[in-house]
Amino acid sequence: GKSDGKGRFKFFDPSLSAALRLRAQLKHGLLTAIREEQFVLHYQPRVDTRTGKLLSMEALLRWRHPSLGMVAPGEFIPLAESSGLIARIGEMVIDMACVQIAAWKNQHAVVVPVSVNVSAKQFLRGSVKQNLAAALERHGVAAALLEVEITESAMMGDQDAIIAELAAIRALGIKLHVDDFGTGYSSLSQLQRLKMDVLKVDRAFTAELGNSREGKVFFQAIVSMAHALGMSVVAEGVETGEQLAILQALECNEVQGYFIARPMPAGDMLALMEKRFLF
Ligand code: C2E
Ligand code: CA
Ligand code: CA
Ligand code: CA
Repeated sequence: GKSDGKGRFKFFDPSLSAALRLRAQLKHGLLTAIREEQFVLHYQPRVDTRTGKLLSMEALLRWRHPSLGMVAPGEFIPLAESSGLIARIGEMVIDMACVQIAAWKNQHAVVVPVSVNVSAKQFLRGSVKQNLAAALERHGVAAALLEVEITESAMMGDQDAIIAELAAIRALGIKLHVDDFGTGYSSLSQLQRLKMDVLKVDRAFTAELGNSREGKVFFQAIVSMAHALGMSVVAEGVETGEQLAILQALECNEVQGYFIARPMPAGDMLALMEKRFLF
């Protein structure tokens, strides 16, 4: 009847079917992407909030698709997770990061630690700790130069297997970051028990900093509790000088975001490592 009209319209919506076609194209291309090594890492710096000194960086995955150009991870990581390919791709990411660290060292750069993102599905399907240890060994990279980011939501619930593996990874000398903090439901004491080293506050909270007093109060509370528990704090998604100034006053340790620098290819990052100070 007439009430089904909306659903029927949706089904024939050309933009929707184009989106579905794109998804199917990406999903079918993933195996080729793995086989032909179409993935590339970009790097985004994290700097000391007060001095602008480069302290570390995050490796962010891109897919250099032969016909679609650069594809962002939000477009294909979920497909990789649902198709079971995330373990293989995640292993490649760890390897690529270590290859890059070794290459920078060869270029005589003073290399800072590189964090890689590991999804919950990757933890459940793969052997992340072995991947990390093997890649460090294979490329002669010190454990202190590799770090792991895992989202707050991935650590919640009955994820005993993930928690045990996190402890084993940390025992290798690899620092652990809680990604997107504030979007899940963990308490800071839980995170302290899990021995997480760095708290990355989700960019939604950074965006609130200039908007409301509550935004500042919330951030301040996170920073002081994290510090009391021995964790360092990173603000994600810093886009304005105003946000940076507030974060300096709040004694947030590190900042990452477009205001400092966008994710960039490895060659550009080499230049930043030589420059050392970003503001
Ligand atoms: P994430 O781990 O939270 O990474 C931060 C994302 O925010 C990146 O998007 C980065 O480019 C973007 N960003 C950085 N600064 C700003 C800013 O100032 N403003 C705004 N609006 N955005 C900013 P990207 O590279 O598209 O990655 C999206 C997500 O894809 C990541 O979120 C992460 O969850 C996932 N991802 C990326 N690389 C990998 C990977 O190698 N493995 C896995 N499993 N997931 C990955
Ligand atoms: Ca991350
Ligand atoms: Ca994040
Ligand atoms: Ca995120």
